Amino acid sequence: MAGVFDWLDKGIPAVLDAIPVPVFVKDPDSRFILINQRCEEQWGIPRAAVVGSTGEGIFPPEQVVRLMENDRRALEGSTVACDEVVRNVALGQDRTLHTLRRPIRDPFGRTRSLVGVSVDVTDVRRTERALRDSEEKLRGLFELSPIGITLNRMDGSYVEFNPAFCAICGYSPDELRRLDYWTLTPEKYAAQEQQQLDALLTDGHYGPYEKEYIRKDGSLVPLRLTGVLLHASDGSSYIWSIVEDITAQKKAQEAIWYHANFDDITALPNRRMVYQRLDEEIARARGSGRHMALLFLDFDRFKEINDAFGHDKGDLLLKEAARRLADRLRHGDTVGRLNGDEFMIIVGADETAQRLDELADDLRQALGAPYRLGVDLAYSSVSIGIAVFPQDGENAEALARHADQAMYEAKALGRNRYRFFRSALQEEATRRGRIANELRSAIAGDQFRLFYQPIIDLATGKVLKAEALLRWQHPEMGLVGPADFIPVAEQSGEIIAIGQWVFDEVLRQITAWDAAGLPPVRVGVNRSPVEFRQSGDVLDVWAARLAEHGLSGRRVVVEITEGLLVELSDTVRDQFERLQRMGIALSLDDFGTGYSSLAYLRKFDVDFLKIDRAFVQGIERGSDDLALCEAIIVMAQKLGIGVVAEGIETEDQRALLVAAGCRLGQGFLFSRPLPADAFATYLRGAARRG
Ligand code: C2E
Ligand code: MG
Ligand code: MG
Repeated sequence: MAGVFDWLDKGIPAVLDAIPVPVFVKDPDSRFILINQRCEEQWGIPRAAVVGSTGEGIFPPEQVVRLMENDRRALEGSTVACDEVVRNVALGQDRTLHTLRRPIRDPFGRTRSLVGVSVDVTDVRRTERALRDSEEKLRGLFELSPIGITLNRMDGSYVEFNPAFCAICGYSPDELRRLDYWTLTPEKYAAQEQQQLDALLTDGHYGPYEKEYIRKDGSLVPLRLTGVLLHASDGSSYIWSIVEDITAQKKAQEAIWYHANFDDITALPNRRMVYQRLDEEIARARGSGRHMALLFLDFDRFKEINDAFGHDKGDLLLKEAARRLADRLRHGDTVGRLNGDEFMIIVGADETAQRLDELADDLRQALGAPYRLGVDLAYSSVSIGIAVFPQDGENAEALARHADQAMYEAKALGRNRYRFFRSALQEEATRRGRIANELRSAIAGDQFRLFYQPIIDLATGKVLKAEALLRWQHPEMGLVGPADFIPVAEQSGEIIAIGQWVFDEVLRQITAWDAAGLPPVRVGVNRSPVEFRQSGDVLDVWAARLAEHGLSGRRVVVEITEGLLVELSDTVRDQFERLQRMGIALSLDDFGTGYSSLAYLRKFDVDFLKIDRAFVQGIERGSDDLALCEAIIVMAQKLGIGVVAEGIETEDQRALLVAAGCRLGQGFLFSRPLPADAFATYLRGAARRG
């Protein structure tokens, strides 16, 4: 035990106590010679209890055995560092200590004691274990992950990768270790790849972004990549990446896209897709200032095919139709199925009307050919409507609507044909052209009719006069009103012949009515200013005709417009005089709408003036119009001019006019213009009432 005192004498324990780690000294028999204060704390025992013992009876026996074993290894001559479990007696708790033992030799090389430094590593070891555990788990995840995981050096070469990644790119681990991701990346992604790499360097991460890798077999695999930058302690950098194989996703997306954009039966673009194309084509045509055309194509009586052969056969027909359509279109054209038996064709090229004609007719014929549906043979036809950008519509909606309208027109015209859309303006122009063309043959074709509107004594309801109003009974256009063809006839000069026809017809009609014993009526005929501008010699013909019929000129009134009075030329004045000499009265039509100057009225002897419909309609609503009407009536009476109110439609208007002193009137209230027979019936009825 001498050693103990050697140490004590030298005051060493005080030094040892100052050391902030547990330190102990043992003799060759493993008995504690001394321990420092930190050791006391670590083991939870006072120094006196342990010095001189091996720890037997203090620590659990198996711990003592381990301690002595470790001592022995040190005493045998080497420095030993190891973990050992030692009980903290005070706490009754085992602690893991990392202990370093070193033999202490005397000058003769004999081992006299050992010194141990012991650090409590319980927590450290626990953490280490936990770390080891999670690392193992991570490793497991890495190996088992269905998603590819890679670790690359900055040059792209592979440091680590999991089996999933090997499966994705089809290379073995050995092969991969000799490769880098640039080799796997198709050329077209190089720029994108560089961008991601730049992002990685600035932001520390990249992606997720989609690209493809070239697999070992040369095929491409679609991927989604995400990654982070990693700095190793040695200063080098690495990239951890997650590499997802998105083949299945892409396939699903494609399937969804396909179903959203294509028709199941015909595999043609569906409504959605074809309208999208239409928008694109319009934009393109607008950009290049070119035309493009839209064709709507619809089977005639498709329902009958379905009913006769069943829907499956109907579908077969559509499929075949789609094939025929596709065969006939050219690159740049689009054909799609809108729904049911309706197809839409976009002709992107700048086609002439003639070429569209040919195309439409070609399609009509191709789709009109018989269809073999299994054992059956089906016959059908199509109607096609065509609208052209930009004249028939500036946008998809308008174009489609107009192509559709044209298609319906084709159907209305008997199906199995195509029609170009014609706008209302175009329609109008066509109609005018047609009127101008065909007006020439109207007289010869006996197509004019005169209608008669009674002019009534507003107080008694008696029919005093009538106005002859011209209609054109067109074989196709139906009954055409004067507003539609008089201006045309005035321009072409046809009005002269027409005016003559009207006059003759009126005389014929008056004679016929007289012969039928009807009360004599005075008939007003409208005469155009153009007729007055001709030489007055035509009126010699009129006089001759009156004589032929044995009629007095007093049976006829000529209605003229105010404009005529303004321009009043010698010819016109001459004609006024001739008319008056024949006894034919003059009536100033549409009074109040034009110049309506009283001065004109004074300058001429007009016998009547007709207050325009616009005024008559206004008298109910505003007192201004009523006041004007009253003024006109009073003034006319003063000048000895008869007044006829036009366009009386209501009882109120009639009553107000009567109160204002107006004697004569015409209008729907009494009768619309009537064909001669109906007028005769009306006249008889009125005569009986009167
Ligand atoms: P206008 O001479 O002022 O003829 C009266 C027009 O008013 C007629 O139209 C008649 O149908 C319409 N009318 C009559 N009562 C009513 C009513 O209560 N309500 C409404 N809303 N309308 C009424 P229409 O037959 O269409 O004739 C239009 C114009 O064509 C005539 O106006 C006349 O200026 C001209 N016209 C008609 N026949 C001839 C003709 O033989 N030769 C010439 N040169 N012009 C004619
Ligand atoms: Mg008139
Ligand atoms: Mg009038």
